[in-house]
Amino acid sequence: MRWSHLFIPTLRDDPAGVESASRRLLLRAGYERQLATGGFGQLPLAMHAFERVERLIREELASMRPQELRLPVADALGIARAELRSPKQLPQLWVSGGDLLAFDADAAGQAASSENLKAALRRIFDRCGLPVVETGDGFMAPIATGEDVLARCPGCGCAANMKRAWAKALPQTVEDPDGDLPAEPFHTPGRKTIAEVAEFTSLPGSSQMKSLVLVADGSPVLVMVRGDDQMSGPRFLDAVGAYEYRPATPAEITGWFGAEPGSLGPVGAPIRTIADSALKGRRNMVSGANRTDYHLRNVTPGRDFQPEYFDLRRAQPGDPCGHCGTPLIAEPAVELGRIRKLGGDAFPFVCLAEISVERMLHTAIETGYDENGICLPRMIAPFDVVVTPVNAKDDALRAAAESIVTALEQSGIDVLYDDRDERPGVKFKDSDLIGIPWRVTIGGKKLAQGLVELYNRRTREVRDLSPAAAVQDLKESR
Ligand SMILES: [Zn+2]
Repeated sequence: MRWSHLFIPTLRDDPAGVESASRRLLLRAGYERQLATGGFGQLPLAMHAFERVERLIREELASMRPQELRLPVADALGIARAELRSPKQLPQLWVSGGDLLAFDADAAGQAASSENLKAALRRIFDRCGLPVVETGDGFMAPIATGEDVLARCPGCGCAANMKRAWAKALPQTVEDPDGDLPAEPFHTPGRKTIAEVAEFTSLPGSSQMKSLVLVADGSPVLVMVRGDDQMSGPRFLDAVGAYEYRPATPAEITGWFGAEPGSLGPVGAPIRTIADSALKGRRNMVSGANRTDYHLRNVTPGRDFQPEYFDLRRAQPGDPCGHCGTPLIAEPAVELGRIRKLGGDAFPFVCLAEISVERMLHTAIETGYDENGICLPRMIAPFDVVVTPVNAKDDALRAAAESIVTALEQSGIDVLYDDRDERPGVKFKDSDLIGIPWRVTIGGKKLAQGLVELYNRRTREVRDLSPAAAVQDLKESR
């Protein structure tokens, strides 16, 4: 690929007002541009990098016989459930961008697919030189400017995305009333939120139950959590095996419950009811009464309603680890990949792996730049090598460069040929900035001795080699 044919709009200076180093470098090195709507769009260098990572992903998945398609996950799931009817058709692996969907005939196949996908993701991140932490169901890279939060437990060493981390509930602030008291309705006009009911009853959030009505993959679910807790959306999805959920609309809620939001509760609830395990063993709590402007006191889970229990609570930094009770520590990070089992025990058994190539590129940049620009590991760089004749007008240098480019390409190496008529200093600066891991420099004096320079972008080490040896070296260093 000739540099002069590629759109690589590098900037002389850092763009103003951009905080993250990777974003700043991606803009400056001409990988990205800011969109009028506020987001970022990818230019050819970024697409070349993505294409190479996607090639690597396909390579690591080869034993699972990936099939390419282009479908949003929710649609792919619907189509697979309707049209994959026989175990004889399975297993299958569908790949749509960074979404990998494995379909299996039974739970054992699903478990194997989950392990295989996890191992493939691990190899992909390793080969790209990314510093990942395994989180049980995924992979995160600790990065100071990361938008996700990695929860780590100094006690047992477990790690998780904070959104899905398992933490125990904090102690309740008021003991439950003693005795087997009967549930009774009381009038709570206009009191809908936990805070309003707390003020009205003088009972804190931890003595109340919060009702959330959600629609998960099309099915309604009532979720009960302690009044002072928040529900973790991803833990909820994992609990019910759904891909996505949304809050029910007010019209759906009134249709199902015959009461308005703010007065809903688990007693006599007409839909599937699940509860956070912090409610197990509690007694005489307050919840909505499924009658507008009424609540119930003395509601006891397990007596007044029979929920399925899961750990649904959203963890906060400092909460006690679900495994060992040690307070969780929060660290900024980026989630690069995640594996989920979907659909429970319904045929076909589904396992979804999500991998973000864009975040991989950001992480690679964040962990390896220097004052001259981006330093990318080879697997995630847009090209393996840039070939730079110091003077593009010199016929001998150009001929030597083109013959090396051809030899490299024939060895399956991705080459960027810097054919621009620019001063050598400009070319070196640009190729350092865009972060191509290797450079072959062709200059008159050395070429007369039959030598070219092989330059390592990261270490800045330079070696003089014959063109054939340089090609061989790049072939072997892959
Ligand atoms: Zn722990």
